[in-house]
Formats: sequence, C-alpha cells, structure tokens
Amino acid sequence: MDLPKLAVASLGGTVSMQVKTVGAGVIPTVSGETLLASIPELKTLAQVSVETLGLLPSASLNFESLLSVLSWANLQIQYGAVGVVITQGTDTLEETATLLDYLWDHDAPLVLTGAMRSAAQAGADGPANLLDACRVALAPDSRRRGVQVVMNGQIHAAHAVRKTDSMALQAFSSPVVGPVGHLLEDSVRYLRPPTQRNILPVPQQTTHAIALLEASLSADSLLLENILKLGYDGLVIAGFGAGHVCASWTEAIEAIAQKIPVVIATRCGSGSTARSTYGFKGSEMDLVRRGASMAGFICPRKARILLWLLVGCQKQDDLGRYLHNL
Ligand code: GLU
Repeated sequence: MDLPKLAVASLGGTVSMQVKTVGAGVIPTVSGETLLASIPELKTLAQVSVETLGLLPSASLNFESLLSVLSWANLQIQYGAVGVVITQGTDTLEETATLLDYLWDHDAPLVLTGAMRSAAQAGADGPANLLDACRVALAPDSRRRGVQVVMNGQIHAAHAVRKTDSMALQAFSSPVVGPVGHLLEDSVRYLRPPTQRNILPVPQQTTHAIALLEASLSADSLLLENILKLGYDGLVIAGFGAGHVCASWTEAIEAIAQKIPVVIATRCGSGSTARSTYGFKGSEMDLVRRGASMAGFICPRKARILLWLLVGCQKQDDLGRYLHNL
C-alpha cells in the first residue's frame, strides 16, 4: 500500500539550533533533512518530502517571507500532500500560526511545531514535537481544522494558542479554551469537533503597517499622538483589563479612529474585552463611542495580524465581523 504524502519545511528556530562555536550560544544550523533524520520511524508512516526554507530565529521572520512559505505549502497540497508540517522558532509561533490560519484555504492540515530545547541540550524536545506534528498532519481527524500548533504532546488551534512561558517545556497554552487535542500513545485524540473558520484573501499589498501599543500605568501619550504622522495604517492597543485606557489617551484615540482602524484588545493574556459594562472616560463603552473596535477574545498580537491582513486586502470595513471570535 502506498504511504500518504507529507511535506515538511524548516524555517529555523531552536529546533534547528546547534553550537557552532563553543561558548557563543546556539544558532540556527540544522537543515530540515537532518531534523527528519532524528525521527526514522516517520518513514513507516509517510512518503516525506522536506525542504529547508530558512535558517532564522523566529523573531526575524516577517509577513512577506511567511506569504512565500504559504505559497510553498499551497503547492505541496496541489502536489498531493495530505498535510504539511513547518518547524520554526517558538518566539513568534503563535503569530505565524494566526497569519497562516487566516489564509489557509484547504481542508488538509497545516501543522506548526518547534522546540524549547535545542539539540545541544539534554532532553531536547525537537524530535518528539516533530514526530507528533507529523502524526497530527497525517491524521484524517485533523482535516478542516486549519492551522494548528503541536508542542509538548498538545494540539492547539492557531487562533487560541499563546506562548505563555519563556523557557519551560510546557511553553504553550490556549487560555480560556485549552488545547484542542492531545497525542496519546502515538495516536491523535481531539477533544472537540472542528469549528467554523474565517478565511481571508491573500493581501494584495504588504507595505502597510499596523502599530501595536500597550497601555501602562502613568504612560505618556507621545507615541500615540504621533501614530498618524508616522504613517501607520491601523492601530492596536493592548488595553488594561476589559479593554480600557487612561482618560488622557481618549482624545488622541478618537482623532486616530477617524482616519485609520483602531482596535482595543486586552493586555491580560486571557479573557475578552467588554462591550457594555463600564462607562468611565477611557472605558470600553467610551472608546467604542469614539470609533474604536473591541477585539473580544483576540489578543493584541493576533489582532494586529488580523488588521494587517484586512487592510492588505481592503477589507478593513469588515473588521467587526472578524473580531470577538476566539
Ligand atoms: N525559544 C525560541 C525557539 O524556540 C528562541 C528562538 C526562536 O524563536 O527562533 O526557537
């Protein structure tokens, strides 16, 4: 019997890192092919094609390069792959997953993974995560689930996952909803059925920029007041609590919202913005009156990606339709 086709690409990150010069720290070095050599059992599960698309720390990935990765992944599905796996650094994994999920227009799964410990460290988690990611990409139950992140035996939906620990092996979680599935005894077990997804067109332009500012106690408004002058096309504010800012920011937000979309998310790391609870100056009700939109459960970083995609395909007027969904 022919084994299913699986496509794997590596972009860099800790999973690809090794020591090149003693004492100089690990850097991206290892090719996709070498990564696959660490999981020989995959050969019994799939016909695997592998490419090294990059060797970067994930902080240095950008939207343009990820659109190229998307084109590569689309081609793999066209060539008959039942699923695609991409390895990258974990620092921006939640953002990459979100961007690709909004653009992934296939029933076949796209699975992202990485590692918290490089191959230079005892207990390196890269091989286990990669094999788990491949199992998820090959599982028939993974269809119609869009982009998912597989780390440390858990499967997370792209829209919910966040890196919530900087160094721990259990670095990823999906606040409020939890993981969508687990890997148990080498099998893929989902806890919930697939949900409705929002798919956007690939942006026609990529030169626009969305600013992300975080509200903080006793902050000045210097950056905020210069957002329009600096040429930004949209603004996301990681607001206090349920989507609030200080009173001294409100006039500037109102002026900006007349020109470009302004989204207020919560900086809390979990939970939703409110809609109709607080009425003080700088509250969610006040900011909506001034023209801002509330992000709901979408975290500030993911809201910035959503807004960048919407502006890029001239769909910013539909913003409200895409917010509030977890
Ligand atoms: N901890 C990160 C990683 O898992 C550091 C480097 C990066 O994000 O590329 O890969």
